[in-house]
Amino acid sequence: MADRRSFLKASALGAAAGLPILTACAQAEDEATAQAPDQGPAVRPVALATWIHGVDANRAAWPILESGGRALDAVEAGVKVPEADPAITSVGYGGAPDRDGRVTLDACIMDESGRCGSVAFLEHILHPISVARRVMEVTPHVMLVGQGALDFALAQGFERQDMLTEEAEANWRRWMSENGVTAPPPINAENHDTIGMLTLDRDGNLSGACTTSGAAYKYHGRVGDSPIIGAGLYVDNDVGGATATGWGEAVIRAVGCFLVVELMRQGHPPDEACRLAVERVIEKNPDWRDIQVGFIALDKRGRYGGYCIAPGFNYAAKTPDLDELIDAPSRL
Ligand code: ASP
Repeated sequence: MADRRSFLKASALGAAAGLPILTACAQAEDEATAQAPDQGPAVRPVALATWIHGVDANRAAWPILESGGRALDAVEAGVKVPEADPAITSVGYGGAPDRDGRVTLDACIMDESGRCGSVAFLEHILHPISVARRVMEVTPHVMLVGQGALDFALAQGFERQDMLTEEAEANWRRWMSENGVTAPPPINAENHDTIGMLTLDRDGNLSGACTTSGAAYKYHGRVGDSPIIGAGLYVDNDVGGATATGWGEAVIRAVGCFLVVELMRQGHPPDEACRLAVERVIEKNPDWRDIQVGFIALDKRGRYGGYCIAPGFNYAAKTPDLDELIDAPSRL
């Protein structure tokens, strides 16, 4: 188990650095009974992010975390990488458009004090995550949507730009000609790839971010789980954080990420909390065999894990000791 492995390595590093080491006895207790989340640091800093593009997101966040910077700054810097990458077809620039050929973006961010900001159904902005952060920092609100979110972004100095790449447009035109204008958006285990990211900084503070262009060829106006605090992302600095990817409607029905964090609060380690939340998603969604949903979670002590419905979901983890891509265990 990746979180266990990094935890053990970090204990060894802690010894070298003169930090307290957990005894074999304490480690055994850790395996037998989930530990209270406030039971001392094990690994810091940590960056955790969904999918293979999470590797570069973690690397972009790392200089901030390594130099003692804030988890919030790290998580924003991290997810801005896939937002700007035209090769990633479900985040930001280059993301698949909706049925009307418009790229509409959802994003949210949450910091260590429980503050949060969100934008949904936002068009023409390269970095929706930074607009979400601005909503959090300069307005009394949590969420702005559509034209209001765009007006706010432009007033805040963000530049308006075209987000539909030639390739995304060609794929959309092909899909429309094969399926017709009245076809429902594809609901299957392939329609995903949102970046969700969680960071734990050297001060032991957690933050999270989630940003996406959403389900490909969705109905115009559709908003998924990714900008919904508690569904696509949740952070509680006393416990841990979680973020989701996959079919957003299924995640919303289970209030997935809030559930993962509450399960960690009850004492479940991150991987088990993710597994139990996937079971809840399955209970609430009779079509679960046709969809993908994956969660990742990071707790206050730097332990992390993930779980998903269908094989194929992976996530990236970076700690002082490792930088890796992990295949999440799956229900199917
Ligand atoms: N969760 C996202 C949504 O439903 C999709 C994804 O994970 O790519 O909008």
